[in-house]
Amino acid sequence: MIVDNRITEYLHSLETSRGELLDTIEKKAIEDGVPIIRSETAALLRSLTAALRPENILEIGTAVGYSALQMCQVMPENCHITTIEKYEKRIPEAKENFRKAGEESRITFLEGDADMWLKELKGKQFDLVFMDAAKGQYIHWLPDVVRLLAPGGVLMSDNVLQEGELIESHYLVERRNRTIYKRMREYLYELKHHPQLMTSIIPLGDGVSLSVKEEA
Ligand code: SAH
Ligand code: MG
Repeated sequence: MIVDNRITEYLHSLETSRGELLDTIEKKAIEDGVPIIRSETAALLRSLTAALRPENILEIGTAVGYSALQMCQVMPENCHITTIEKYEKRIPEAKENFRKAGEESRITFLEGDADMWLKELKGKQFDLVFMDAAKGQYIHWLPDVVRLLAPGGVLMSDNVLQEGELIESHYLVERRNRTIYKRMREYLYELKHHPQLMTSIIPLGDGVSLSVKEEA
């Protein structure tokens, strides 16, 4: 936990419904243990999407399509989302949710590993990238993501503070979490020192970072 529980509860109490479909998807995802975006982080993603008015969005980690559909609700009419998911169990559910939302034409769903798809996406530029998949891979995907970001584009990364574990001494981190811990610290260091990125790290939800790519 990064943010005081009472503050989080209060923030959650202020959130309003995003419609029956998203409410149903959210409820089911929580029941099924799908790690969808937290409501306070979703609010930031929505505000950012509305403010940027992007034409092309890339999402790494679709899960069942919840965050993609959150963006669809606030992005411009002509905006397009490309989203990547590799977990076979979640793919049909995400497709079904995109269909139910009537958003199939505005979403390109790439099934398979982001390792492969990020290399395949050549000559494309995205105004907004939402990184929300395997935390230990963010550092490896960063060069491709920077290449894919349009000048002035924004990279939003979720779960970057690892429930607050990131500030603990290496020795206090459970062995199985150490690789992610090390890689996430490298990732945040890289985001803050990258010559083409200007980054702000926000202790909201599970930790979010916003990186703006320099203009040309
Ligand atoms: N953005 C979603 C939640 C994503 S959860 C939402 O807020 O609604 C993270 C997802 O990333 C999981 O479904 C997991 O299967 C997927 N994932 C993890 N590693 C991946 C990889 N290497 N390639 C593609 N998807 C990956
Ligand atoms: Mg997440």
